[in-house]
Amino acid sequence: MKAEIIAVGTELLLGQVVNTNATFLSEELAGLGIDVYYHSVVGDNPARLEELLASADKRSDLIVLCGGLGPTEDDLTKQVTAAHVGQELVRDEAGYQNLLTFFEKRQRPMTENNLLQTLVFEDGLSLQNSAGLAVGIFYTSEQGTHYLLLPGPPSELKPMFYNEVVPLLQKHFQEDERLISRVLRFYGIGESQIVTDLADLIQQQTNPTIAPYAKPNEVTIRLTVKTVDEAQGLRQLDELEEVIQERVGEFFYGYGEDNSLAKVVVGLLKEKGKTLAAAESLTAGLFQATIGDVSGVSEVFPGGFVTYSEETKAAFLEIDPTLFETVGTVSKECVETMASQARKLAKTDYAVAFSGVAGPDELEGHAAGTTWIALASEKEVVSQLYHFSRDRSYIRHSAVMTGLDLVRRALLK
Ligand code: ATP
Ligand code: MG
Repeated sequence: MKAEIIAVGTELLLGQVVNTNATFLSEELAGLGIDVYYHSVVGDNPARLEELLASADKRSDLIVLCGGLGPTEDDLTKQVTAAHVGQELVRDEAGYQNLLTFFEKRQRPMTENNLLQTLVFEDGLSLQNSAGLAVGIFYTSEQGTHYLLLPGPPSELKPMFYNEVVPLLQKHFQEDERLISRVLRFYGIGESQIVTDLADLIQQQTNPTIAPYAKPNEVTIRLTVKTVDEAQGLRQLDELEEVIQERVGEFFYGYGEDNSLAKVVVGLLKEKGKTLAAAESLTAGLFQATIGDVSGVSEVFPGGFVTYSEETKAAFLEIDPTLFETVGTVSKECVETMASQARKLAKTDYAVAFSGVAGPDELEGHAAGTTWIALASEKEVVSQLYHFSRDRSYIRHSAVMTGLDLVRRALLK
């Protein structure tokens, strides 16, 4: 089953709206074992949509269109697709009742153009919209090509997909085969290095497949197996993962698409019953904001310090300012003092501290990117010097990720 996705809407071409529907649909279809071969975006233009439908017909078994089901002039997906496959548009009764109820409840007059949203193909299946008014359509042509028409707003498209489309696709088309994916996350190794370390595996890959993906400061690898037997598929993933872990496991920190280094750190702190504080200079609170994104962080993070200037370092962290005169703020002594003072004042098990040069200008004779990071624990205070590169925001992000990884490794010891 070859599928393609056509997103309709001039706002997408203008860059005003990100085509998140295509991402969502691709991921969901892959999960159902349906291969997506093309994504396209077309404006609200009948001739160009017709042109795209004509080429889609030739290469795809399932054509998913999203957007342009609404009541306005520019919403023409239904009309153009109906004409393309030779279907009449007729009113969908359930959709019509939904529309009447909607306007009755709001006590607003219904304008005539709203009726357009309840039109469906005479020989198609109607897909009800639990979050809006436009009715979706599923239709199979005489040639056996399937057309799926979905509303543009993600808040309508997603429930329609889950409630109406998934059962339909499962019933009609899903082959016995399904895809199972596993995402491995790595920090501290670059994409080119990981691809080199796994080169032979990547070259040989057929089933499971190996897809590396670089994100700022980290790499993920998605393993995907196509299988009819779930247990067998999971065993194949285990075997492949074992080989990967042997080679690059040192950099592995967790599983899952929506995982992160911050989540792993917060999880470990909870697991070990430990608490963490931070004292931040060049990162100016970014470290604390990053762990603050993780729900439930309050259990392990009582608070911390943002100390950008010498004055606030001295005042908030109770550091003797003569230290800055003798060794400067971008120094081992300063960052270690910041960490141990933060730990003492916040009364935590650990504290991490950052002092460095975010750039682009140099500071105290140090180049942009020069950064000291310290970690204070009950036992000791350790610190290390890093030389991060690229722009200011990347340098600050790198410092935060490095700090998180230091805490993670300390917790694993
Ligand atoms: P409506 O009834 O709201 O007019 P519609 O089915 O006609 O819905 P569009 O008019 O094409 O859909 O899009 C409505 C809104 O939905 C867009 O302004 C945009 O915010 C969002 N949207 C449309 N297409 C996409 C897409 N591919 N990805 C993400 N959002 C989208
Ligand atoms: Mg619209």
